[in-house]
Amino acid sequence: MAGTVLVTGGTGYIAGELIKQLLAKGWTIHTTVRSKAKSEAALFERFGQPGEKLKVFEADLMSDSGWAEANAGCSHVAHVASPLSTKTPKDENEMIVPAREGTLRALRFAKAAGVTRFVQTSSIAAIAYGRHEREYTVTEADWTNVDDPDVTPYAKSKTIAERAARDWVAAEGGDLEFVSVNPVLVLGPVDSADFSPSVQPIKLLLSGSVPRAPDIGFGVVDTRDVADLHVRCLETPGLAGERFIAAGKFMKMIDVADALRSGLSAPQSRKLPSKTMPAWMASVFMLINAEFRSIKNEIGKVRHSDASHAEKVLGWKTRPVEESIVDCGRSLIEHGVVKI
Ligand code: NAP
Repeated sequence: MAGTVLVTGGTGYIAGELIKQLLAKGWTIHTTVRSKAKSEAALFERFGQPGEKLKVFEADLMSDSGWAEANAGCSHVAHVASPLSTKTPKDENEMIVPAREGTLRALRFAKAAGVTRFVQTSSIAAIAYGRHEREYTVTEADWTNVDDPDVTPYAKSKTIAERAARDWVAAEGGDLEFVSVNPVLVLGPVDSADFSPSVQPIKLLLSGSVPRAPDIGFGVVDTRDVADLHVRCLETPGLAGERFIAAGKFMKMIDVADALRSGLSAPQSRKLPSKTMPAWMASVFMLINAEFRSIKNEIGKVRHSDASHAEKVLGWKTRPVEESIVDCGRSLIEHGVVKI
């Protein structure tokens, strides 16, 4: 199956891999960027496909401008763009408003253009947070509790955006089929020195920025497999309302460091921590480093994500997380993001 699909946020880590896979399957791609002047030439160079198969449109999540043109002629939309940052914004609305308004804008223009399938890149952040157990497993039936004071602006933005999308589709979507993909932390090779905030933990570990690995962890999934799940969600009939967790296994930071050590050369891995940070050292780091304070509530938590629904319904699987971690680390070194 191939037609014309709009992929929003074409400059992004996940969107880039998705565009690559969709082009390989014969789809015609429309993609949005915030600035054509900054991004169009690089996208054409990366995909080698200017003109008929790849068209670039300027559209911001916060403005109607460009969205009608971007959707014209599309039967499918993968709405990937959303604010991400390594820094916690002072005002949570800097993330929440573009995530929610951008998703609703993308939905409205998609429906007006006659789009039949809309796949939103949501997140495990919309599923797994605002809980106080030390170890638990989440499924697609769970939702993040945005009223919990420990929930980050990013997790709120993804939860509120997905809920708003589902409410809008139920009330006004008509025949538009909505599906969400909810990945855990996405790793895998980066294509350039311009990378997603999600690869930050690998960068921190390889560059020796932390003397010991903080006692935190995350589920890991490969960007190539997340893109593949999006393709399946675009192409498989009868998925209206579906929600799919995209996840491999949960890894503590020390396990990630060990995976990098096993897969990279000795000089590449020489700055990796080999021990977990004791609680007293974590407390000192929190006193002196604002970013570290933001992970305070993550210390000691183990959050498993059950991805069996995507496997059962779509035959989807992700590769071993060690491969995603090592490929990510190697590519960060190759692109000069990490100096060793
Ligand atoms: P990324 O590389 O930072 O890409 C984010 C994209 O969103 C960029 O293309 C960015 O455009 C665009 N964007 C941000 N704010 C925008 C705005 N106001 N208007 C228009 N475009 C805007 O991040 P990614 O990792 O690929 O993430 C893509 C999606 O996956 C997001 O929805 C994210 O929440 C979701 N997700 C990611 C992960 C992960 O671990 N990476 C996990 C779960 C879910 P610019 O280039 O102009 O900034």
